[in-house]
Amino acid sequence: MNKERKLIVAGNWKMNKTVAEAMDLVRSLKIELANVKEVDMVVCPPFTALSEVSKAILDSNLRLGAQNMSEHNVGAYTGEIAAVMLKEFSVRYVILGHSERRQFYSETDAGIAKKALAAHVAALKPIVCVGESLAEREGGRMEQVLETQVRGSLAGLKKEQMEETIVAYEPVWAIGTGKTASAQQAEEAHAFIRGLLVKMFDETVARRVRIQYGGSVKPSNARELMSLPNVDGALVGGASLEGRSFADIIKNSI
Ligand code: PEP
Repeated sequence: MNKERKLIVAGNWKMNKTVAEAMDLVRSLKIELANVKEVDMVVCPPFTALSEVSKAILDSNLRLGAQNMSEHNVGAYTGEIAAVMLKEFSVRYVILGHSERRQFYSETDAGIAKKALAAHVAALKPIVCVGESLAEREGGRMEQVLETQVRGSLAGLKKEQMEETIVAYEPVWAIGTGKTASAQQAEEAHAFIRGLLVKMFDETVARRVRIQYGGSVKPSNARELMSLPNVDGALVGGASLEGRSFADIIKNSI
């Protein structure tokens, strides 16, 4: 597939997989994906499996991501994990502002922006998630919601930092529901986000930023979604929990 930007496909394992299960999955991904060079491939296990997965993928083309981090560097923040701690396991990416964190843990755009800045200070690439709910889409407020989230969650980033940031467009109504945005819906939202990046930064930055689509991506819809001009990869939940389906998403995207 001839793309303007290199595709990046990340698997968000959420709160799934013990260390033993994580190792099984990684072993199968290493075999299935050994020859893939065209796509940046990232696995995001739970914190508890980072250490073992990190060692297991050392000699592979898979990269490691975390699912969240603190905006603070150190100190009395019980239960939190700092960017430098992730770096100890060679983590390169960190998912920030996933809709589940916005919904269940009351994360705000301002807090996500602080985390994104802290990630860059530690040389981690943030994957910043945005997306509207069904009620917001049906109420004709998709663009307004996306604009608020994009401007708020990326506030304060310098141009060089933005170029190293990945945006994930994840319509909340498509996450874990089996409902995927149509090609037209996805392309419209991605083009709108890229247009916002032009306004917030400039044309060059906007052209370089990779925007992933997330929401019930599976092997059967990956090719169509990944072929869209403004779709530069996928953030995959459910289908990343099984080696064959995650590998097939990637192979079908090439
Ligand atoms: C996600 O949670 O980021 C996601 C896209 O989940 P799913 O692929 O299961 O819809």
